[in-house]
Amino acid sequence: DALGVIERTNKALNSFLTVSDVQAMSAAKAVDEARARGEKLGPMAGIPVAVKDVLVTKGVTTTAGSRILEGFVPPYDATAVQRLRQAGAIIVGKTNMDEFAMGSSNENSGFGAVHHPWDLSRVPGGSSGGSAAAVAAGQAVAALGTDTGGSIRLPAAFCGLVAIKPTYGRVSRYGLIAFASSLDQVGPMTRDVTDAATLLEAISGHDPADATSLEDPADFTTGLDRGIKGLRVGIVKELFTEGMEPEVAAAVRRGIDQLVSLGAQVEECSLPSFKYALAAYHVIAPAEASSNLARFDGVRYGLRSPDARDVTEMMMRSREEGFGDEVKRRIMVGTYALSAGYYDAYYDKAQRVRTVVIRELEAAYENFDVLVGPTAPCVAFKLGDRVNDPVAMYLADIATIPMSLAGIPAITVPIGLADGLPVGLQIFGPHFSEAQILRAAFALE
Ligand code: GLN
Repeated sequence: DALGVIERTNKALNSFLTVSDVQAMSAAKAVDEARARGEKLGPMAGIPVAVKDVLVTKGVTTTAGSRILEGFVPPYDATAVQRLRQAGAIIVGKTNMDEFAMGSSNENSGFGAVHHPWDLSRVPGGSSGGSAAAVAAGQAVAALGTDTGGSIRLPAAFCGLVAIKPTYGRVSRYGLIAFASSLDQVGPMTRDVTDAATLLEAISGHDPADATSLEDPADFTTGLDRGIKGLRVGIVKELFTEGMEPEVAAAVRRGIDQLVSLGAQVEECSLPSFKYALAAYHVIAPAEASSNLARFDGVRYGLRSPDARDVTEMMMRSREEGFGDEVKRRIMVGTYALSAGYYDAYYDKAQRVRTVVIRELEAAYENFDVLVGPTAPCVAFKLGDRVNDPVAMYLADIATIPMSLAGIPAITVPIGLADGLPVGLQIFGPHFSEAQILRAAFALE
């Protein structure tokens, strides 16, 4: 069982920050009893699910991977978590992550790095690295991750999983500790496409507590096997970047050949603005983060520095001691980008790039049903390789950020190996095209 696997493997992987064994056991017992009484069970009844520690859980410590939230016990469940429970899922624990979801390798966690289950000397990807490692290692059947610029898709690709970043607004963000509110989305990380569809169905839909959540019929499981004959697929050439590892590119090309042999009409296409997406993201995301992270002041939650002489010093010291380097870097970049005199030069320009990305995608979807490319330019790298080089770290997200800026759904599906490690193919469609991209991913399984 999942709890047994966690007990045997968590020391080596460091994928869970909190294991909810007591809660999980009583939830599992409740499901068994309901089953014995012949009650109708939810679609995920008894399934062990791991939850990224950026989603609040009632009565269970939630840290967002940050020392500043050490010991914070939320009084309520995030909507996505609540819906999982309603579907009968058993929440086995909270997974490790890059602090406040800022990172691509999980090495920015305030509680130590997560190790890749296939090779402990490598990273699992980030920022949902604990969730990815947990599913890949059999510590849970499925996991929730969050994706702001690739944090669901990148670790899933590195660990050989299926994962989907839904359309912005598909899943409620209520109870998700905010990084960049206009980009953040919750989504499933699973071993296959059917599981991803089932989990996404369970967590989707309007929530009165999140004004950006939308109502749209969420049926992703029916018709998954309908096939992709005649599907118009565009290969985005800008996603095959200069620094891409050749073996990864070759694996992705083989995946695309498979789409052709399954009857899809495949053609190359160009979205020139994708080249500027990474740079624009690194203005927009830190700008929003600098504002969102202002609430961690030592007063409201978690850590409070004990040695301060007055309130101002208490706040400064709590933030100094509680936040890690990457988080401080983002707060500084964001504050700078938003300051008077620089706003037009950076924030405004970045928003314009964002609009161009959206328009180019809209135009592309007049000719194509879905677009494809790699999920990442590389395979899981060695622990320590990129920690001292933020730009090299940021480059891991080069293929996942455009979809985040546009708010469109994107799925990653394992397509083969490069150097013995998993490679993901990314399939993305217009807003609310989850059923279609899931079907295309299913055809490749
Ligand atoms: N790796 C990207 C970053 O550091 C994306 C993170 C995410 O999607 N949460 O911002």
